Amino acid sequence: MNPATPILPGATIGVLGGGQLGRMFAIAARELGYRIHVYSPDDDSPAGQIGDLEYAAAYEDLDRIREFARRVNVVTFEFENVHAASTAAAAEFAPVRPDGWVLHTTQNRLREKSFLTQNGFPVTPFRAINSLTDLESAARDLGLPAVLKTADFGYDGKGQVKLGPGANYAEAFAGLRGAEGIYETFVDFEKELSVVAARTLSGQFQAFPVFENTHANHILDVTFAPAAIEERLAEEAVDLAEGILTKLDLVGLLTVEMFLTRDGRLLVNELAPRTHNSGHLTIDACVTSQFEQQVRAVCGLPLGSTELYAPAAMANLLGDLWRPGEPQWANALEDPSVKLHLYGKREPRPGRKMGHLTATARTTSEALRRVIRARDQLLAK
Ligand code: AMP
Repeated sequence: MNPATPILPGATIGVLGGGQLGRMFAIAARELGYRIHVYSPDDDSPAGQIGDLEYAAAYEDLDRIREFARRVNVVTFEFENVHAASTAAAAEFAPVRPDGWVLHTTQNRLREKSFLTQNGFPVTPFRAINSLTDLESAARDLGLPAVLKTADFGYDGKGQVKLGPGANYAEAFAGLRGAEGIYETFVDFEKELSVVAARTLSGQFQAFPVFENTHANHILDVTFAPAAIEERLAEEAVDLAEGILTKLDLVGLLTVEMFLTRDGRLLVNELAPRTHNSGHLTIDACVTSQFEQQVRAVCGLPLGSTELYAPAAMANLLGDLWRPGEPQWANALEDPSVKLHLYGKREPRPGRKMGHLTATARTTSEALRRVIRARDQLLAK
């Protein structure tokens, strides 16, 4: 089949990964009339609950991956830590979008940051760490404070440690447990921002408004849009994203996480070749959600408008909220501008993303106030 031929509603989309991003993608795809097959190691996964068919098998099981890919028209993913061998096996039978090498580049922090610096995109100074000597010389050459992370398969601050003056390097190095590490100089940022953007095979590009994010314990806590930054910086952030998607020759959707430094520079922290937690507010606040945009981009349909209907804020609901018992859902919904999204996960473990709330209002500060109050109300008796 000519790769430029659109994959039209009625066709089947395969999703690698069964989490909440896959779930919301599957909902958007179903609204557009597609069928969905989900592949993940788990049974009854959040995405599998919505899909037409669920494969519960390991990502390394290449025979099962081939069987899955044979029965779909296109493969995309909601989880980027799938090995290159698995995407290559899928690509024998269906287009994989974004391409496997994008996944391979972005799933390792060293490959990702090397790609960015080689192409002139700004990142914090970094070094590969394979020995205690590497760590000591990185600290000497690049300076402290810094963050030491595992190079492979990291997200949400997993496998990260901050190093300050007087740091115990031997202990920090041992913490990598033999895995390759990356030493990054610590960015004293003013804000964390993200740009979610899509690109089609024909090169059409469309970004959502810039999101502003705050984290708690390395996990995204609250996002609002539009970000409280000057127009000039917002344009710069979107231009940066367009440059990256173009350089990657990306077909699909990708998120660029950025720092805004105190002296007004944008630095790229991380790329995620998929939808992103910070983009969840697009479901309730934009003409096209990030999930629908991913469907359009991977199926070769024209991209939708990313216009924001109203300022919006999103608050994550982590498993910790369940500690005193089931949250008081009706309390949060007393504010009619608040929307509740739950991901169908049975076990509310601490730190586990169970759902989110979105509020829209006349101003971002009003949307923020409402969404935080609604989340607080979940615990009110
Ligand atoms: P990551 O897993 O790289 O997305 O990191 C998770 C969070 O840790 C980021 O959103 C930041 O809040 C923080 N962080 C990561 N790297 C750095 C850095 N080099 N400097 C300052 N903060 C960082």
